[in-house]
Amino acid sequence: MQNVPEHIYTPQGAEADQSPIVVASESMLSREDRWSQMGQKGGVVWLTGLSASGKSTISRNLEWQLHQEGRKVFALDGDNLRLGLCDDLGFSEKDRNENLRRAGHVALLMAEAGLIVLCAFISPYNLQRSELRTLCGQRGIPFFEVYVNTSIEVCEKRDPKGLYKRARDGKILGMTGYDSPYEPPSNPDLTLLTNETSITDAVARLRKALETAGWL
Ligand code: ADP
Repeated sequence: MQNVPEHIYTPQGAEADQSPIVVASESMLSREDRWSQMGQKGGVVWLTGLSASGKSTISRNLEWQLHQEGRKVFALDGDNLRLGLCDDLGFSEKDRNENLRRAGHVALLMAEAGLIVLCAFISPYNLQRSELRTLCGQRGIPFFEVYVNTSIEVCEKRDPKGLYKRARDGKILGMTGYDSPYEPPSNPDLTLLTNETSITDAVARLRKALETAGWL
């Protein structure tokens, strides 16, 4: 079996029942090794809310601010991920779940490396978000859920990508909050009411909440 890469080796006969095909390899570095060299703890901050609620705007502003302070931070954006890693996925419920599953695992790896990962994803279902929280919990990665709570009326008015207009014109189907459901988080770590709060205040509130929770 020499020179045959493990991942394409398919056990045959008696061996097939005994040897797993995928075996995790152990790093010589612990999480503590990585995080202490980064000078911070990694973690996943998950912003959920309707399209145009302000998730990307808030996470981009916080990313910039934390970077200025010398923190290692990365804003992971739903739209950007869909242009690359997830460009094979559409907007059916199955594809949306898969999109979030991949996003969650990417965020987890980045947090494991010691980054504070700010994730802006509509993530409309409670089940999806609780699975992400469980995934992070199982790996000992801090998870902080932020509900960017903006009314559908305000989102429709903002409509920076023109998506609500296209939904109204019947050009796109399954628009969250319009003809596809959004389940508000039942117990988020923080709620930002952007109808009533400026971008600056929303970012400051999130930063303060992370500090209070021991992230910064
Ligand atoms: P999402 O990522 O949730 O789809 P975006 O951040 O792309 O939303 O768009 C939100 C729009 O709303 C931006 O044009 C932003 O400038 C505007 N906006 C107005 N007030 C706020 C606020 N308080 N917080 C966040 N965004 C706001």
